[in-house]
Amino acid sequence: MALLGAACLLGFGVWRLWPAATREGEPGNTLLARSDASVERFAELDPRASVVLERDPERPDRVQVVYAPITRGEVTFRVARQTGEWSDRVADDEVGADHVFPWPTADLKPDDVIRVTFRRGDSLGTQEWRVAEARHAIAAAPQGLYARRTLGDRKAWIGQYGGSEASETAVADALEWLARHQADDGSWSDRCLGAGSEAKCEKNAPCSGPGGPYEMALSGLALLAFQAGGHYDFNGNRYSENVRRALDWMVARQRSDGGLLGSKQDRTRRRQFYPQFMYEHGIATFALADACAVSHALGRPKNERHTEALGKALKFIEEMQHDDGGWRYTERREQPSDTSVSGWPMLALKSAREAGVSLDARQIEKVRAFFEARATGERGRTGYLNRGVHTEATTGVGMLARQFLFEEPDSPYVREAADFLAQYAEQTWPDRRSDAGRSDYYLWYNCTLAMFQAGGEAWKRWNDVVRDTIVGLQRHEGCQRGSWDPDGRWGPQGGRIYSTALAALTLEVYYRYASLSEAAKQAGGAKSDTAFPLIRRKGP
Ligand SMILES: [Zn+2]
Repeated sequence: MALLGAACLLGFGVWRLWPAATREGEPGNTLLARSDASVERFAELDPRASVVLERDPERPDRVQVVYAPITRGEVTFRVARQTGEWSDRVADDEVGADHVFPWPTADLKPDDVIRVTFRRGDSLGTQEWRVAEARHAIAAAPQGLYARRTLGDRKAWIGQYGGSEASETAVADALEWLARHQADDGSWSDRCLGAGSEAKCEKNAPCSGPGGPYEMALSGLALLAFQAGGHYDFNGNRYSENVRRALDWMVARQRSDGGLLGSKQDRTRRRQFYPQFMYEHGIATFALADACAVSHALGRPKNERHTEALGKALKFIEEMQHDDGGWRYTERREQPSDTSVSGWPMLALKSAREAGVSLDARQIEKVRAFFEARATGERGRTGYLNRGVHTEATTGVGMLARQFLFEEPDSPYVREAADFLAQYAEQTWPDRRSDAGRSDYYLWYNCTLAMFQAGGEAWKRWNDVVRDTIVGLQRHEGCQRGSWDPDGRWGPQGGRIYSTALAALTLEVYYRYASLSEAAKQAGGAKSDTAFPLIRRKGP
C-alpha cells in the first residue's frame, strides 16, 4: 500500500488549533489540530507510524484513511460534522498491518472533518483533515457521470481513452478562439462575428459564417465546451472569468416562466414560440445543469443563483414536454416530438440529476417511453419523427438515451448501434479528412459521446476516424485560427460558433464524462447512485 507519508501525533488531553498548514508534496493533506506535547511523546512511542488520507485506488467512489501502526493501541476513526454528530469506527490493535478505513465519498461533505485518534494507555494522538482541504484525496472520489471532471491530472490519461496530443492542441486553440469572440455582455451570438454589432474579429480578415441569431444556444454550447475543458466559474482557471460572465448573462436573461431563449424571442414578445426555441432552451439548460453538476461532484456549496435558475429551466422543460414524452419546436403537447430536439432536454435532465436535483420519476419514464417508441429494432437505430425515418445522428441520440436514462452503457441494443456507426464512419470518412459537404458536427458530437460510452472495439474504430478528421478540419490562420468552418449539414444555420463549440466538445470526450460501462464494472454491475429509478421496463 503506497502511503503518502504523514505523522501520527500523540499527546495528552487538550488540543489547540494550529493554523492550517500544507506540507510540501502533499497538497491538501492539512493538519488542523495537534497537541504541542504530543510531538515528542509520539516520537518516543511510535515514531514510524503514519496516518494518511488518500483516494481508494480500487474504488473511485471512496476515500480511505490508512493507518500503519508500529505500536499497539486502539485507533478510532471519526467523521465529524459541523453539527457535532460523530460516527466512529474502531480498529483492532493489530500491529504490523495497515488498517484501512474506506469512506464512501457520498457521505462526505466539504465541512466534515475526518479525525483519527490513537490511544495507547493514557496517551492520545490525533490527526484531522477537513474534507474541503483534502482535495488530493477526494479528487477522484465522486461517483457518476461527472467523476472525471474532478481529476486534476487529465493529461496523464487522455491517451488511455483515445485522445491525442493533436486533439488536445485543437481543443486549446478552439477555446482560445471562443474566448476571443465572446460578446461584452458574456454571450456568444452571430453578432460577435464578421460585421456584427458585437464583432470581435480582426478588422482586415474577419471570420466568416456567423450563422443564425441563436445566442442562447450558442452561449450554451460555448459554456459546455469551456466546462468540459475544466474551466469553471469558481476554479480560477484560464477561462473561468469567461464562464462566469456567460453564466451571469444566461441567468439574467431567463424569463419569468423559466425559459432560456434568444433575442429572436424577445423581438416577438409572444407566448407563441419561434421554431428553434426548444433547441435553445434545451442546450442552455444543459449548460446550466453541467455547471451545477460539476460543483456538486466537487462537493462545493451550492451556487444558489445557478441552482434556482436551473430549477426554473427544468420546470419549463416539464411544461413543454409533449404527451408522447419528447419535445419539438412547438409547445403544443398533442403534436409528435422529434428525437433530435429531445436529446438536449434529455441530457439536461441527466446532468440535473447528477447535480443532485430531484426529478419527477414519471417525467423520466415518459422520456424513456418516447425513445423506446423511436427504436427501430434494426441495427440499433433510432428514428427521428417515427421509427421509419432515421439518421446516424438520431441513432447516436438514441444510444445516449439508452446510456443515460436506462443505464445501459453497453447493452446489446447499444452494441448493435455502435457496430453500425463504426462501420458508417469508416465508409464515410475513409481518408481521415472530410470534404466540406460531408462534415457534420452535430452527428460527430452526439455519436462520439455515445460511442465513447459504448467503449470497446467499435469506439476505437469510430474514434480513429472521427478524431483525426475533425482535427484535420480546424482552421489555423488569421482571426479564424482555432475555429471550424460552418459547412456541411446545419453549419450555415448554426454558424462558426456552433461548429467550433461542437468540434471542441467532440474532442473533449476523453475527459468530459466518466465511462459508465467502466464504472458499472467497478461497482460489480450495481447501478450508480445517480441512476434514474426504473418504474417499468420494456422494449428492445
Ligand atoms: Zn474572428
